[in-house]
Amino acid sequence: MTVHRSPVQSFLESLHARFASVRDGEVAAYIPELAKTDPDLFGICLATADGYLYEAGDSRHLFTVQSISKPFVYGLALDDNGVKHMLTKTGVEPSGDAFNAISLHRVTGRPFNPMINAGAIATTGQVRADSLQHRVARILEMFGRYTGHPMRVDPAVYDSENRTGHRNRAIGHLLRNFDILDAEPTAIVDAYFQQCAIAVHCADLALMGATLANQGVNPVTGVRAIEDTHVENVLSVMASCGMYDFSGGWIYNVGMPAKSGVSGGVLAVLPGQFGIGVFSPRVDEHGNSVRALKVCEEVSRAWELHQFNPPYCPTSSRRLSYSCAERSSSRIRHPGELACVRDHGSRVRVFEIQGNLAFATTESIVRDVIAGSGEQRSVILDFHHVTTVNGAAARLLADLAAELERRGTATFFTHTPRLPSLRPQVAAQWTDAAAVERLFRFPSTDLAMEWCEDDLLETLPRPVPSRLDDLRTFEIAAGLTSEEIEVLAQLLDRQRYSPGEFIIRRDDEATNLFLVMSGVVGVWLGEPGTGSRVASFSVGTMVGELAFLDGARRSAHVVAECDVECSLFDVDDFLRLQESHPRIHATILRNLAVSLATKLRKVNRDVSILSTQRG
Ligand code: GLN
Repeated sequence: MTVHRSPVQSFLESLHARFASVRDGEVAAYIPELAKTDPDLFGICLATADGYLYEAGDSRHLFTVQSISKPFVYGLALDDNGVKHMLTKTGVEPSGDAFNAISLHRVTGRPFNPMINAGAIATTGQVRADSLQHRVARILEMFGRYTGHPMRVDPAVYDSENRTGHRNRAIGHLLRNFDILDAEPTAIVDAYFQQCAIAVHCADLALMGATLANQGVNPVTGVRAIEDTHVENVLSVMASCGMYDFSGGWIYNVGMPAKSGVSGGVLAVLPGQFGIGVFSPRVDEHGNSVRALKVCEEVSRAWELHQFNPPYCPTSSRRLSYSCAERSSSRIRHPGELACVRDHGSRVRVFEIQGNLAFATTESIVRDVIAGSGEQRSVILDFHHVTTVNGAAARLLADLAAELERRGTATFFTHTPRLPSLRPQVAAQWTDAAAVERLFRFPSTDLAMEWCEDDLLETLPRPVPSRLDDLRTFEIAAGLTSEEIEVLAQLLDRQRYSPGEFIIRRDDEATNLFLVMSGVVGVWLGEPGTGSRVASFSVGTMVGELAFLDGARRSAHVVAECDVECSLFDVDDFLRLQESHPRIHATILRNLAVSLATKLRKVNRDVSILSTQRG
């Protein structure tokens, strides 16, 4: 059996093979236990924002997370205290100093950023806890949300740093001196040593990165690890300060937020796309893993991932756009009315939009709509294929709808239930609750189109009256002489229906053809109200001709939508005409065929609009 290898997997393996021979750098030894690490270990893992893992080398070898813990604990402290409070405890400026520098602001004592040890210890102190154990337990639990499994502290590395970490303890006391730490510093520095000694492997790091790439939700478990609003804060400090005093060079070359640890790990995040974890213990003079740096540089270069050169995505957020002249609603209308809709329907326009709506994708839609809106009586925006709408997009759309309403263009947003935030966001922009109600009035585009067509017809000289008594105007009677129409009229029975009443039930035997004299009837697959309404018929049309022609049972329910009056034509009477009045029979048969041909043509045109505009 041939195993097809993903080119992504092959590429990571080729990088692993290529850089395995690099032996530059030294294993960090200032924490004695770290010095025991096998310097040749080398693992790579890339986790996509939808939770797929590519792994190469020692990607499951456990090592201690060290400084890579810092952005995650910062995220926890942000969730606990909010941004404003955290900014009083640590700044967000790159310091240009080494990670263990004793650099605090001269006056305030505030550390420059949460990625250097001083800022990280200040941050650990802000994690809500009532004891050392509680603090460490909360930190471990937070890591577990990112990795999807319980986490533990490596006791040997923790113990080793705890016995030798006098410099960090000194930083803790300085922070206490400036009241940046408001509690006894020893226990907080202890918690910090434990957070640094949490055991992870490359797959953990990659998934932690993928969770940040996925707006804070672990894509494998679906568990939220951090509030979505804090993800950008965490990634920002990683981007500006994550690689110590090499942060500028890193963002210049690699262009992704990242964090490294002195045990040899590097975690980089491509927001919205993936996280990558690399481990190789030899670190350079800044404390960054030499091979991990090379891997990340190559990944960024080969796949063109620099964040300041994002790919141009030419996929339009406009999926389809058509007017009712090109594609009318599924309302079956009298041929005269239909001709009117064709002639004037360009004043009703539908925009089917798709994808993720943010500023740029929404701006292009807004521009399209505004450009044509001068001639438009109504505009329908169909959200059926939209996956997400962010706050900026919702505001733009709300403003667009308000502008259209001001110009007197009736505007409708349809198929919005899968975007529950859209309506409240529009409502937050508008003071007029009735206008919001109007905007979201129609669940489906078809219903909105029907309304817009009726509204348009109101403005035009009526091609057919709203109540039609004269058989001559019906499509079934085309080509019949007055005498022949008289014969037909004798065969018809009048019937009234009140709103909601069944006219035809699915599976019934077909005994009649229905001529709609007044009102509108709806055709439903499934139960009326809950199933899907596939068409409707208005005055001057005939309903039920399919079963009338081929004798099959009824395939759908037909229900009166208002007070409806129909003339019923019994199938047996029709068949008897073949003997008694063969010319009438033949003419009616022809008219039935014409009516079906008209419907088929509409379907063909609809399909051609879909196939020419899409793709
Ligand atoms: N625990 C280490 C320290 O505080 C973490 C430093 C690092 O990874 N750069 O010194």
